[in-house]
Amino acid sequence: MRHTWGMKYVVCVPDGCADEPLAELGGRTPMQAAHMPNLDRIAKRSTLGRAAVIPEGLPPGSDVGNMSIFGYDPAKYHTGRAPIEAAALGLRLRPDQVAYRCNLVTIGADGTMVDFAGGHPSTEDAAKVIEALQEALGGDGVEFHPGVQYRHILVAPASWAEADCTPPHDLTGKPSVPPTGPAAPELLRLMDASREVLAGFDLAANQIWLWGQGFQPDMPSFESAYGLDAALVTAVDLVRGLGVLTGIDAVHLESATGWYDTDYEGKRDCALAALDAGADLFIIHVEATDEAGHAGNIEEKVRALENWDSRILAGLIEHLDAAGPWRMLMLPDHATPLATRTHTSEPVPYLLFDSQVDGPGGVYTEEGVADLPVVAGHELMGQLVSRR
Ligand SMILES: [Zn+2]
Repeated sequence: MRHTWGMKYVVCVPDGCADEPLAELGGRTPMQAAHMPNLDRIAKRSTLGRAAVIPEGLPPGSDVGNMSIFGYDPAKYHTGRAPIEAAALGLRLRPDQVAYRCNLVTIGADGTMVDFAGGHPSTEDAAKVIEALQEALGGDGVEFHPGVQYRHILVAPASWAEADCTPPHDLTGKPSVPPTGPAAPELLRLMDASREVLAGFDLAANQIWLWGQGFQPDMPSFESAYGLDAALVTAVDLVRGLGVLTGIDAVHLESATGWYDTDYEGKRDCALAALDAGADLFIIHVEATDEAGHAGNIEEKVRALENWDSRILAGLIEHLDAAGPWRMLMLPDHATPLATRTHTSEPVPYLLFDSQVDGPGGVYTEEGVADLPVVAGHELMGQLVSRR
C-alpha cells in the first residue's frame, strides 16, 4: 500500500558540472550549451543563486562539497577524505585511530608522479596487493583495507595524523612531493617499503601513496538534524560514505557506473521508488560531469547534462507533479572546469524549486546566477526542507 504523500524533496547533484566559458562552445559553458528544456522550464519558477559549497581554507574536493550539499558545515564536520571512504567500506575508526587514503600509484624512476591511479588495476588484483601489504607491513596498529581499484584505506595509530600530504592527482606529471610534518617519517617508511611488495606483482602501480587523513567524523544523523527520512543513489564511495556517517540509506544500483555510461533512468527510478515507498528526501548523485571535466571532454560533459534533463528530470518532474507537492534542490559539489581539468573553489549555481510556491525565476547557468548573492552551501538543505 502506498504511504500518505507528504511533501517530497529531491536533491540533484551533477558532480563538478559548473565550468567556465569555452571557445569551443562559442564562448558558452557546458551548462549554457546543453539543451535542457525541462530544467529551463522549472528554473523560470525557481529561486536561484550561488552556493559556497567549499568553505574557505578547505580543499575543493567532492568530500567537502558533498558534505555541504548534505546540509553539514564542512568547517565543523570535515576531518579528512579518508574517514568518509572508510565509512563506505564499513570501517568505524576508534578514537586512537586515523585513516589515510592509500592509493596504488605509479612513480617514475626520476620521482615523477606518472599515474595517481596506478594504471587502474582491477579491484580483484588490487585486493591481492593490499593483502600482501598487510602481511609485510601491517601490525602494531597499522591495517591495510582493500577498496575499489586503486583506492584503498590505511588505518594507523592516531599519533600518525599530523602530516601534510599532497593528493596524488594534483601531482600528475610533476615531481612527487613527499609528506612533511611530525608523522612524515612513518608514512615515508611505509611508502618506501611498499615498493618491494608491489615489485612482486605484474602491475603498472609500483608503490602506495598516503594522503587525505582524518579521524572518525562526528556527524548527527540526517533524521535528527532535519527530521526527514532520506535515501540516496550514487556510484561513488565518498558519497556512499557520507550516507553511512549520516544514516542516509544508499540504494544499490548495479548499473550505476560512475562513468558516462551510467544508468540515468535507473537512478531516476530509484528516487521515485524510494519516495513512493515513504522516504521524504532522495539525493541523486551523478559522477559523469566531473569525469568529463577531468578528462577535458567537452562533448561528454554537455551530453551528461543533457542526459540529466531527458533521462532523469523529465520523468521525475512528471511523476512528482502527478503525485503531490514537492521541492527540488540542484547544485554541483564544486566546479571542474574543462580548461584546467581540476576542481575549483568558486561558488556554484544552485536552484531551489517548489511545486506550490513560485520563486523569482531565472536561468540555471553560471552566467544566470553571476550577479546573485552567495549563500553557504550547507544552509541550502535547511532552506529546502523548511516549512514556509
Ligand atoms: Zn565532485
